[in-house]
Amino acid sequence: MTPSSPMPAEPVAGSATMPIPFIDLKAQQARIRPAIDRAIARVLEHGQYIMGPEVLELERRLQSSTGAAHAISCASGTDALMMAMMAKEVGPGQAVLCPAFTYTATPESLVLLGGTPVFVDVEHDSFNISVATLEGGLHAARKAGLRPVGIIGVDLFGQPAGYAALNDFADAHGLWVLADAAQSFGAECAGRRVGTLAEMTVTSFFPAKPLGCYGDGGAIFTEDAELAAVLRSIRSHGRGADKYDVIRHGINGRLDTIQAAVLIEKLSIFEDEIERRQVIAARYSDKLANVAVIPSVPPTRRSVWAQYTLRVDAAKRTTIQAMLKARGIPTEIYYPRPLHHQPAYQPFPVADGGLPISETLAQEVLSLPMHPYLDEATQDLIIGALAVALRT
Ligand SMILES: *Cc1c(COP(=O)(O)O)cnc(C)c1O
Repeated sequence: MTPSSPMPAEPVAGSATMPIPFIDLKAQQARIRPAIDRAIARVLEHGQYIMGPEVLELERRLQSSTGAAHAISCASGTDALMMAMMAKEVGPGQAVLCPAFTYTATPESLVLLGGTPVFVDVEHDSFNISVATLEGGLHAARKAGLRPVGIIGVDLFGQPAGYAALNDFADAHGLWVLADAAQSFGAECAGRRVGTLAEMTVTSFFPAKPLGCYGDGGAIFTEDAELAAVLRSIRSHGRGADKYDVIRHGINGRLDTIQAAVLIEKLSIFEDEIERRQVIAARYSDKLANVAVIPSVPPTRRSVWAQYTLRVDAAKRTTIQAMLKARGIPTEIYYPRPLHHQPAYQPFPVADGGLPISETLAQEVLSLPMHPYLDEATQDLIIGALAVALRT
C-alpha cells in the first residue's frame, strides 16, 4: 500500500477529471472533427498537395474576412516575416525599429537578411510598441551609422498596436510599416480588421494562435498589388510569369493544401470563437480587477485575446505560479526576457533612453489559461486559486 498523502486544504483543480489545458485545442476539434475529416479526405482524393484549390479558396476567404485587397498564404508566420523583409529588400546598413518585448521571430528574418534591429520600448498598459520611443530609436540607428528604413509593430497578446500613430510617424520619416499580427488575426481597430491597418501585415496559423491549423502556416496581407505580386513570386523561388522564369531570389514559402483545408473549416467557427474570447476575457477582468493589474484595451480596439496577461508583483510571481501549478492550473510567462537581453540580440542598438518598460514587464507578466472553450466553472477555479495566491 502507498502511504496516504495529506488532503489538500482546498480541492485541486482538474484532478478529478482532466488537467486544465492552457489552450484547449481538443475541445475545438471535437466541435468540427467530421468537417475536418471530410476536408482532409477531399485533398487526399484530388492529390494537389501543393497550391491545390483549397489554398486559393482560403486566400479568397482571408481576403474577404479582413477586407484586405490581397491575401498571400505561406508556410509560417516566420516565413511571412522573411518574405515581407525580402520584398522590402532589407539588407546590410539598414535599421528596422521593433519592440524588444516580443517573440524572437519578430526581428529574426531581418537579421538573417543582414539588416539590423533597433529595439524600442513598449507601453506598460497595452504591451505594444511605444510611439514615444521611436524618435530615440531613429537616433540610436543613426549613431550606429545605419539608415532607418522601417518599423515593425507587434500586436502583442492579440491587441493591435497603435497603427494610426505608427503610420503617421513612418510617413513623416520615409519609413515603411509592417504589422506583425501573428497573435492578432481577427482583431480590430476603429472598425477595421487586422490586415488593413498597415502597408503590410503578417500573421501566423501556428496551432496555438487565435486561428491555428494542424501544423505550420501563415499569411501576408497588403493593399498594394505590386507588392502582392512580388510576395507571390518570392513564395515560389522568385518565379516570374512562367514557372521556369527566375526573376529574383525567393524561398519555398508555400502553405500546404491540407493546412489550407483545415483552416477553411476553422474559419467557419472563428467569428463565434472571437465572441467567446470577449466574454471570457471580460469575465476575467471583471473578477480580477481588484486583485491584479488587468490588461487594458482601449474602446476603439478589439483584441482576440491570444493571451490573457496580468501584471503581478515581480517578487511574488514565482510563488504565484507554483501555487497555481499545485492546483493543476497552468500559467505561462510571455516573455521572461526582452530581446535586447537575449544573447543573440544583445549586440544590436536600443533606443536612446533604454527600454525600462520592456524590462519591468518581463518581470511582472503572467498569462492565464485562455481559449474559446474555457467554461465558467473552470474559470472560477482559476480565479479563486489566483485570488488566494495573490494574497500570499
Ligand atoms: C508566433 C509568432 C511569430 C512566428 O509565427 P510562426 O508561425 O510560429 O512562425 C512571429 N511573431 C510573433 C509575435 C509570434 O507570436
